[in-house]
Amino acid sequence: MKNIPLSKVYLTDEVRQAALRAMESGWYILAKECEAFEAELATYTGTKHAVLCSNWTSGMQMVHQAMGLKSGDEVLVPSHTAFPSIEPMCQWGATPVFIDIDDSYCLNVEQLEAAITPRTVGILPVHLYGHPANLDRCFAVAKKHGLWVIEDCAQAQGAKYKGKTVGSMGLCGAFSFFPSKNLTVMGDGGCITTNNDAIADRLRKLRNHGRLDKYHHDEIGYNHRFNEINAAIGRVGLKHLDDLNSGRRKAVARYNERLKGIVPTPPERDYAYAVYHMYVIRCGDKRDALAKFLKDRGIATGIHYPVANHQQPAMTKLFKDIPKLPRTEQAVKEILSLPIYGELPLKDVDYVCDAIAEFFGKK
Ligand SMILES: *Cc1c(COP(=O)(O)O)cnc(C)c1O
Repeated sequence: MKNIPLSKVYLTDEVRQAALRAMESGWYILAKECEAFEAELATYTGTKHAVLCSNWTSGMQMVHQAMGLKSGDEVLVPSHTAFPSIEPMCQWGATPVFIDIDDSYCLNVEQLEAAITPRTVGILPVHLYGHPANLDRCFAVAKKHGLWVIEDCAQAQGAKYKGKTVGSMGLCGAFSFFPSKNLTVMGDGGCITTNNDAIADRLRKLRNHGRLDKYHHDEIGYNHRFNEINAAIGRVGLKHLDDLNSGRRKAVARYNERLKGIVPTPPERDYAYAVYHMYVIRCGDKRDALAKFLKDRGIATGIHYPVANHQQPAMTKLFKDIPKLPRTEQAVKEILSLPIYGELPLKDVDYVCDAIAEFFGKK
């Protein structure tokens, strides 16, 4: 029987050689591979700095600290995102103000202004599933009200908004190299991109115990450092990222063509070059039955995400004013993620589409 995974890491001899080279170099943490990876990430993104850190979540925790986020501050954020998007701000006592989505599954920019209060300090748009959020509208609202914008790019490395790479437009961009993401390092990892020298310096200090040098600690920091082996692996992945992303887009074009008239497929806005971290269809009330039907045919699927963040116990316990977000609440019941990765063969896409057509009696 077929066995089509939901996603697959990029592993070639070039990757293996790079890992071996790092292993045998005698340097394991924040050395030459990390320096080179940071420089290459900054160039790729089009920012002055890229600061590697142990994962997205630790990076954002430091970003919020560097910016002085404090108890009572409010941050506008979509509810429809990975739970970690919301954690770092809560760790500093800030309140997530949940915004509903539009049909691109990114935050509905029409709802931003109405959610602003005197306590609002920033907007955290998420480029969900690899599709860029409507940044111009975020920036317009931010400018008018004196807010910062930080881009959650964890699912969108290589995506472009009006031709510009995501992570280069907000005050910071936050990336994850978790194994399912578009760029992986075979383990946890993340990076923060920024053009702001003060933020970059602060992050470099905080991630390494507040160090100025080996024996001098300027402030209380963390161990949120990055490993050489992971950097060596990431450098190879970054070299191939554009090809892998275009591989995803070829698979998506095939899915869209084959599924037309059978199920609603994900839209791509005219400002977007999406990199399809996920390929998400809508299945009405047939979602769970379809997932099982596909599983029985060796096709893995996922749900990103089955529980809206504003309805997670961790949130409802903490905050009194939990909003109603009808589009998000509807989406989480109907969405299904199909297999997608850079090297996904088109014949596998056809196999998946045949199965979906059969399920809906459209074969
Ligand atoms: C994966 C992910 C994160 C968290 O990344 P980690 O590196 O696991 O901390 C944050 N936001 C989004 C949208 C994600 O998909």
